[in-house]
Amino acid sequence: MLELYNTLTRKQEPFKPLKGKKVGLYSCGPTSYNYPHIGNYRAYVFVDLLKRYLLYNSFKVKHVMNITDVDDKTIRDSQKEGIGLKEFTARYEKAFFEDLKSLNILPADNYPKATEYIREMVAITQALMKKGLAYKGEDGSIYYNIRKFRDYGRLANIDLNKLRAGASGRVKKDEYEKDNIQDFALWKAYDKADGNVFWETPVGKGRPGWHIECSAMSIKNLGKTFDIHCGGIDLIFPHHQNEIAQSEGWTGKKFVNYWLHNEWLLVNGQKMSKSLGNFYTLRDMLAKGFPAVAVRYLLLSTHYRQQLNFTFEGIDAAKASVERLNELIRKLQDIKGSSKSGVLIRKEITAAEAAFEKAMDDDLNTSEALAAVFELVKSINQHIGNSSIDKKSAEEALKFLEKVDSVLGVMNFSREEKLPEGLMKLIDEREKLRKSGNFAAADKIRSQLREKGIQLDDTPEGVRWKRL
Ligand SMILES: [Zn+2]
Repeated sequence: MLELYNTLTRKQEPFKPLKGKKVGLYSCGPTSYNYPHIGNYRAYVFVDLLKRYLLYNSFKVKHVMNITDVDDKTIRDSQKEGIGLKEFTARYEKAFFEDLKSLNILPADNYPKATEYIREMVAITQALMKKGLAYKGEDGSIYYNIRKFRDYGRLANIDLNKLRAGASGRVKKDEYEKDNIQDFALWKAYDKADGNVFWETPVGKGRPGWHIECSAMSIKNLGKTFDIHCGGIDLIFPHHQNEIAQSEGWTGKKFVNYWLHNEWLLVNGQKMSKSLGNFYTLRDMLAKGFPAVAVRYLLLSTHYRQQLNFTFEGIDAAKASVERLNELIRKLQDIKGSSKSGVLIRKEITAAEAAFEKAMDDDLNTSEALAAVFELVKSINQHIGNSSIDKKSAEEALKFLEKVDSVLGVMNFSREEKLPEGLMKLIDEREKLRKSGNFAAADKIRSQLREKGIQLDDTPEGVRWKRL
């Protein structure tokens, strides 16, 4: 049975959705003010892995991921550039969706945008004021009174006594640190710095705070209580803590049953981040010749709750692992004949599948799950090396890999890319020479292809090529 680590209870718990096999899943999406770096993508790859494993277990998942298209940062940077907020955020939204596709991340069912939920945010703000949980500050902004919410601090594991002693004043900024716990803004009164970004609403002229955006968009799309909420650990405080205060303060119901948070991607021991300047975007990686699938593999190969240190050796190894899987797939696809004394590998496959699922059930332990897959890969390669695997077993092995890849999303089962016509002709020509015993001429072509980065391997099933 699938167990997940719940930040709220600080325990690994069996996963049980509210309604049968239906799962409501919300993950905090990007703020459209820059090209996300691969540290940001660790969060999206993690959610994708979780979702794919839920699907693997026959759950029906409704996945909602928001797009923050208005907040402090989008306003600040669009003004710096002197263009409208919408035009500014649209650029990064487009890039984000392109990246998701490259990383083979399954699309969410809905991508709500903050600017399309202003009415809902205003309604929640009004309701919170009515309940005495929010108040208007002297600047006209509306703040959440965190001391009025009994459970404030529970998710973020904040000492409530310290909180009562220390919390005073209020903060209008969207982002602040744990040692600066204060009443936070639900609605920000218009400020000249906001330029032409404002809404005229019953709670005044202004714009929403960042935290209320996710309460409004998640509840509207998934209901007052839903199953899973994800995000990076940096969102636990204040963002997710504030989402709970807003949502539960408003509905009087439990907001989310399972809170899942992924760890950071590090570079030389420091968090990969925009502000530290130690980041690579996905585009940077592609330009350096790393396929997106290698980035995906790297990001998911370490357990999501462990910090992952980014290195170029690491991405090289990820690339090699993906190639190893695809090479085996090609070999298996090439196996013909059932006349050989084929070994039955069903037992090995069954064992690998059980080990894969056991690891994934254990809070998505991908490093162990991958170890199980590669143990089988090694063994099958040995069988192929001894020519002791038949077509039927090969098909079973392929089926297993396809199943596993419905979760991992890194393998390539389509018959590989085609080489340019001219190169294919050379390969055919060499094959003819080789068969007629003209090995010297055949070798000449082989080294010719090698110079072009194509390696040929002669196997009992015929010649195979791969890119070097
Ligand atoms: Zn959020």
